[in-house]
Amino acid sequence: MAALEEVRLSPRTDTLTNVENKPSSARPRGRALLVEDEPAVRGLVRLHLELAGFDVTEIVDGNRALELGRLTSFDLIVLDVMLPGIDGMTLCRLLREEGANVDAPMLMLTAKDSESDKVLGLEGGADDCLTKPFGTRELVARAAALVRRHRRPHHEATEFTRQIARQNIAIDLDKRSATVRTQNVELTKQEFDLLELLISHPGIVFRREALLARVWGGETYVTERTVDTVISRLRRKVEVDPQDPELILTAWGIGYKFVDAR
Ligand code: CA
Repeated sequence: MAALEEVRLSPRTDTLTNVENKPSSARPRGRALLVEDEPAVRGLVRLHLELAGFDVTEIVDGNRALELGRLTSFDLIVLDVMLPGIDGMTLCRLLREEGANVDAPMLMLTAKDSESDKVLGLEGGADDCLTKPFGTRELVARAAALVRRHRRPHHEATEFTRQIARQNIAIDLDKRSATVRTQNVELTKQEFDLLELLISHPGIVFRREALLARVWGGETYVTERTVDTVISRLRRKVEVDPQDPELILTAWGIGYKFVDAR
């Protein structure tokens, strides 16, 4: 029942006449795993992923999704937070730990207005989160962007550049270079990864332990103090006044976020 409401709540974009959603069989986007137990949402997401060229495998249960996700690699995983069996957050974390999809693009569907779900989803290893109710155009755009972003480094150079620009910072994801107020700055691997994660999710607070997990992976010798140290170094490179940061902000007692200037 709730699912039907969610679907209907986005009338402007839930239309099958979207030009972007026309079948694109000439350029198959690959295999997608869709984990969602609500039939209406599942049907809608499946339809639009298929129209966008994905070959979609549907699963309604978290345990079953973990089983399949450990064995078979997918080009995209779309998963809901609320699932029977293992919940979406846990599923995401477990798939990131081992198996065929440790680096698969993951798009998490989170509950309406639940900022904390969104934060937890991103911290748990999802690459992006989409809040219900969502428009299908946005769903397809985000899914396609994730897949593109994921594939680009493994393919030969294309005419596209993958850049993120916010405030006075621009980062090039392929060259792994950064420009701050039009000046090139040299960043270490950790500094770049940290900046990329924060700038990709403006306004979202990441806990230190989540930053450790995302940026340092499973390295056991680093501590949460390491995060503070690298944040300080990064601020010296990107802030006008590192003592009074305006871009990389501290969430006291929690962690860090990139300023949300919307
Ligand atoms: Ca659900």
